[in-house]
Amino acid sequence: MGMTPGTLQSTTTSTSTITAYSALIQRAREAQLLGSTGHILSWDQETMMPPGGIDHRSQQMGLLARLHHQMLTDPAIAEAIAECESDRGFCEGDSIESANVRELRKDFDRATKLPPRLVSELAEVSGKGQHEWAGARSANDFARFRPWLERLVHLNREKAACLGVPQGGEPWDALAETFEPGCTAATVVKVFTPLRERLRVLIGELMSSSHKPSNRFNETKLPVDAQAQFVRMVVESIGFDFERGRLDTSTHPFCGGSHCDDVRMTTRYTESCLNDALGSSMHEAGHGMYEQGLLRSAIGTPVGEAVSLGIHESQSRLWENQVGRSNTFWKWCGPQLQRHFGACAAGFTHDEFYGAANVVEPGFIRVDADEATYNMHVMVRFELERLLMSGALDPKDLPGEWNRRYKEYLGVNVPDDRRGCLQDVHWSMGAFGYFPTYTLGTLYSAQFFDSATRAIGGLEAGFALGEFAPLRAWLNSQIHAHGRRYSPSALCLRVTGSELSSEPYLKYLEGKLRPLYSL
Ligand code: ZN
Repeated sequence: MGMTPGTLQSTTTSTSTITAYSALIQRAREAQLLGSTGHILSWDQETMMPPGGIDHRSQQMGLLARLHHQMLTDPAIAEAIAECESDRGFCEGDSIESANVRELRKDFDRATKLPPRLVSELAEVSGKGQHEWAGARSANDFARFRPWLERLVHLNREKAACLGVPQGGEPWDALAETFEPGCTAATVVKVFTPLRERLRVLIGELMSSSHKPSNRFNETKLPVDAQAQFVRMVVESIGFDFERGRLDTSTHPFCGGSHCDDVRMTTRYTESCLNDALGSSMHEAGHGMYEQGLLRSAIGTPVGEAVSLGIHESQSRLWENQVGRSNTFWKWCGPQLQRHFGACAAGFTHDEFYGAANVVEPGFIRVDADEATYNMHVMVRFELERLLMSGALDPKDLPGEWNRRYKEYLGVNVPDDRRGCLQDVHWSMGAFGYFPTYTLGTLYSAQFFDSATRAIGGLEAGFALGEFAPLRAWLNSQIHAHGRRYSPSALCLRVTGSELSSEPYLKYLEGKLRPLYSL
């Protein structure tokens, strides 16, 4: 994007608007420079920092959040935005400039609703809360985490009240807007309710089938060092650029970094199952390629930022599932694996590799879940965080309510809180209103992949030959390069010609799993 008059769509734009826009963009970029410094510190906290660093780090994060908030709410930003908005020719249409002004207005209005005290307190308590959660989780001790959860629930309810609950809505909606613009609990319920019924039927049928795919490969021990080399080769093959990104290890895989040329993703390895590391690395690489695919010339402006977590998750789920769990991918990956691991991986047929990537088994852990049961885990969390935010659920009752829903949704008895309500990091980081983006992303991924299949001849056949570049290029031009130029729903309509629907996903899932279970 440019800031010279020649790139603007309108010929009526005045010099003062151009000046105001340039000033606005400069301030947005400076705020991003500071904000992205915090992202590198968060990455460091998860990958490198010794445990002793936590108190000081939390203070650093609290201060950075306060300074970042100060920059975002500077009255000079409001003046520059207003100047741009007053030039109708400048703000109409969907030019990069008008999108930037529109999105910076939204960011400014949201940021000014939050008192600086709350912003820095949330950052500080989240940092410490996350640290305390990690300790409570490994000690399987909910009572240790409970006071932090109570504080974080309290602070987030305060945040929702400051942001303002939309008319006819609920506190959860105000928080979800940060992660998924336009998303409300009511719209989520509308998508989740029918999806849950179809999934319940499908899971029941798969579980009662007498034929199951072989799980043998998932029980094969492979040395972690060799796994790391292999996984790196795979994510590089699908298009992650190691000149502009890293892959490290952390307890919980994630993707962060400071901008499109410095993307930090992590994974984790278990000796007993390569598919854990492979699946989570392809997932994070999907996030990473979205970040690397953002417009370099728009760094620090909304058009150079990912549009929402749901769309972000569509990219990770697409590479993890539609690609990484596909029949043709394993025609390429299986032989690569046998060459790489030699005798350890010899003696597996294609059907065994492909089957092992698609075994369905209701369990306790979301991040280990297969494609059929995954969304049930998300639905449990959505219901619970909605109740926590409305005040209808007391944090002390969380374990009981969690376990009751797991029995109801997945038919499993949660053995302890470590494998129950303590398993996820999100609430300890103060992220409420986040979880549904996982399922929305899963639904988007199937819908996008359908469009890609129509647009690219021989797409899936190409995976068997290790040809992933056409898909990455398509995702880049259709999704990544737009940043926040279009809203998530407008982007979906633009890319797929339809609104978000669970049909493509259910069709994909049933079409793949039923044959694997001889149904
Ligand atoms: Zn993800």
